[in-house]
Amino acid sequence: MTTVITGGSRGIGAATARRLVRDGHRVVISYRQAADEARALEEELGVLAVQADTADENDVARLFDAAGDDITGVVNNAGITSPSGPLAELRTEDLRRVVDVNVIGAFFVAREAARRMTSGSIVNVSSGAATLGSPGEYVHYAATKAAVDALTIGLGKELAPRGIRVNCVQPGTIRTDIHRLSGQPDRPDRVASRIPLGRPGEADEIANAIAWLLSEEASYTTGTILRVAGGM
Ligand code: NAD
Repeated sequence: MTTVITGGSRGIGAATARRLVRDGHRVVISYRQAADEARALEEELGVLAVQADTADENDVARLFDAAGDDITGVVNNAGITSPSGPLAELRTEDLRRVVDVNVIGAFFVAREAARRMTSGSIVNVSSGAATLGSPGEYVHYAATKAAVDALTIGLGKELAPRGIRVNCVQPGTIRTDIHRLSGQPDRPDRVASRIPLGRPGEADEIANAIAWLLSEEASYTTGTILRVAGGM
């Protein structure tokens, strides 16, 4: 039972790795740049960490080669937000990079999973922004995550006859480094009052949902988009 987690070196991916190791999975994580964090996780959890940019199809193929033949789970998690700001102020190269990582990268990972898996479960990580829009900050990012939702719906139907389930988690505002990287480290606290449960989420709370969707307890759930966003 091998599960591949892209962007597993920190944040939601690392929390998912911790949870899945506890659940008995053999876990392979990918990371892009954070080699120190990835090595630390390798030591802590006994996972395998592979440097691979999900926006590069050769890197993605190499990641799946390293994971081996027994892949039953894929967490398609790697994603970026930055930069943030009104669409009118964003640069072409930044828009292309967000699409490259969040959409094309998600396609490459899902395609590799579809080629190699014979059964099991794929969980894509989208965002509540896909439905809520994130005006003034991340409409470009929100649109890329809407693509991930659509990928989930279509691929869920496409792979169902092969016994492979495909679902998606839409996190709300979760305390991770992604906010610091997009220049808004205070964002989780700033938006807390708009969240019905009154606080940002923790990475573990997303990992719990991902672990359930990967598990046999979700055996009749496919093509589903599960929002985990404190009521947003
Ligand atoms: P994070 O920045 O803490 O971690 C992102 C991970 O993705 C890191 O391991 C990083 O190395 C990896 N990564 C980034 N670009 C990559 C690439 N091109 N190739 C391979 N790996 C790459 O972020 P996070 O908050 O843990 O986000 C994880 C996912 O959850 C993302 O898809 C993000 O869009 C989504 N999400 C996060 C939030 C939130 O509030 N934190 C909300 C909604 C959705």
